[in-house]
Amino acid sequence: MRTPLLAANWKMYKTVGEAEAFVSALLGGTEGVDLAGAEIVIAPPFTALPAVATGVRGTGIGVAGQDLHWEAEGAFTGAISAGMLVEAGATHVIVGHSERRRLFGDTDDAVNRKTKAALAAGLIPIVCVGETLEERDGGEMPAVLTRQVRGGLNGLSAEQVGTLVVAYEPVWAIGTGRTASAAQAGEAHAHIRSTLSDAFGADAADSCRILYGGSVKPGNVKELVAQADVDGALVGGASLDPNSFHQIVAGGRGTEL
Ligand code: PEP
Repeated sequence: MRTPLLAANWKMYKTVGEAEAFVSALLGGTEGVDLAGAEIVIAPPFTALPAVATGVRGTGIGVAGQDLHWEAEGAFTGAISAGMLVEAGATHVIVGHSERRRLFGDTDDAVNRKTKAALAAGLIPIVCVGETLEERDGGEMPAVLTRQVRGGLNGLSAEQVGTLVVAYEPVWAIGTGRTASAAQAGEAHAHIRSTLSDAFGADAADSCRILYGGSVKPGNVKELVAQADVDGALVGGASLDPNSFHQIVAGGRGTEL
C-alpha cells in the first residue's frame, strides 16, 4: 500500500514570517493537523526553507526545495545545489515543475540531471510531468507523458524509481481553477504507472507514488485520490492557507475534518 502524500507548493509566495505563521497555524490550530495515515511535504521559497524546517522538526512533515541545480557548486548565479538544500533542512525537492519548464527552459535532460543530483544528495525528488492543452487536444497526452517520464528518469535504478515521487500536473489545470476530472486523472496516472513498469519493472512502478496536481481544493481532493493510481496531490494556490491545506490533507487521507 502506498501512503498518500499531500505536498504544498508555495511557489513565490510567503515571507519568512508568513511561513512561520502558516506552520504554527497548521500544527497548533484548534484541531491541530492529524498526521496519521498521510505524509505531508511543504515546499516554501528558498528563503523560508530553514524556518519551515525548524517549525516542523519532529513532526515527520517533509520540506522541499522548489528547484535545484545539478552541479554541487559553481558560477551559476541564482541557483541552489542539492547539498545546499539538505543543509537548509530539505528532505524533498520539486523537479521539472511546468513553470520551470515553460518560464525557465527546463528540458527533460535538465530534469534528468537535477533528479540524479537530488537522489545523490539524499533528497526525494518530486518529478513533475504533464501535457499542455494543445497536446491534450491533439491526442498527444500519452506520448508526452511517456517522453517526460522516460527522459526525466533516464538511467535511474529500479530502486531509485521506487522511492521517488512523480507528479502528474496537466499544464491546463495549474492555477486555472480547471481541474482534471477524476477519470482524466485516473487515465493519465495509469499511463504513467505502466510507463514506469515498462521502463523499471513492476515493483518500482508499484512503490512509486504518483501525485495529481492542478487546481486541487478541499472540495475535489477526495474524488481524485479515490482513483486507483492517484497517491496524493501537489497543491499550489489552495496550499497557501493553513485551513484549506489542512482540509486537503484530511480529504487526501480519505477522511473529513
Ligand atoms: C502547482 O503549482 O503545482 C499547482 C498544482 O498549482 P495549483 O494547485 O494552484 O493549480
